[in-house]
Amino acid sequence: MTVDHHDDEEDPAERKMRFLFQLRSRGVTDPRVLAVMERIDRGLFVRGQFADRAYEDTPLPIPCGQTISQPSVVGLMTQSLNPGPRDTVLEIGTGSGYQAAILSGLCRRVYTVDRHRRLVQEAEAIFRQLGLHNITAQVADGSRGLPDQAPFDRILVTAAAEDPPGSLLAQLKIGGIMVVPVGQSDAVQTLIRVTRTDAGYDYDELRQVRFVPLVEGLGPT
Ligand code: SAH
Repeated sequence: MTVDHHDDEEDPAERKMRFLFQLRSRGVTDPRVLAVMERIDRGLFVRGQFADRAYEDTPLPIPCGQTISQPSVVGLMTQSLNPGPRDTVLEIGTGSGYQAAILSGLCRRVYTVDRHRRLVQEAEAIFRQLGLHNITAQVADGSRGLPDQAPFDRILVTAAAEDPPGSLLAQLKIGGIMVVPVGQSDAVQTLIRVTRTDAGYDYDELRQVRFVPLVEGLGPT
């Protein structure tokens, strides 16, 4: 039998190999992170006209004018966050739910919040479909954190703030780590890692990134 080979009908196993190769070549080296990213299919989180680009290392549009992050950035942020199997993690900016799904495979519990109800509902449906029962998604203004569930071992912010929000810093455990893009919303931002110590907070600059802005208040939908 001959098989016609079109680029848009690539064999899923080959597509996955290329996806993982791209991640590694862009610095995602933590084997635990690579294993989860191999398992969770990004194609489930991208719908409509962009669905066929889900395995490219590029951010893509999702509803409510937001974006699903570039896979290599998801991988690099996750490895910088370094979540442990007993950790409780807060993610600000559920978006498509992809980053939360990756975190769910690496820690005990994930809380993820978004200001858009539609995004939270669509992400929840995918978490159910995948049987990811350790994720709690809710509509909330993440710039205030999630005081009811605080403190957290890890906090990952996937929208850019002008400064690391004070309420999020306060909701980090001592020894905890927060990764957050910081800078003006329409410019290149710097991804920083904040570690809370007994004495205060240590800051490391990781790399340049570009995220949609962290916007205060709930969205219209
Ligand atoms: N982590 C997502 C990508 C996030 S895009 C993924 O894996 O697909 C950034 C998200 O942050 C958007 O969905 C946006 O609605 C959300 N956001 C922006 N400001 C927010 C705020 N104050 N509280 C909660 N979510 C916010």
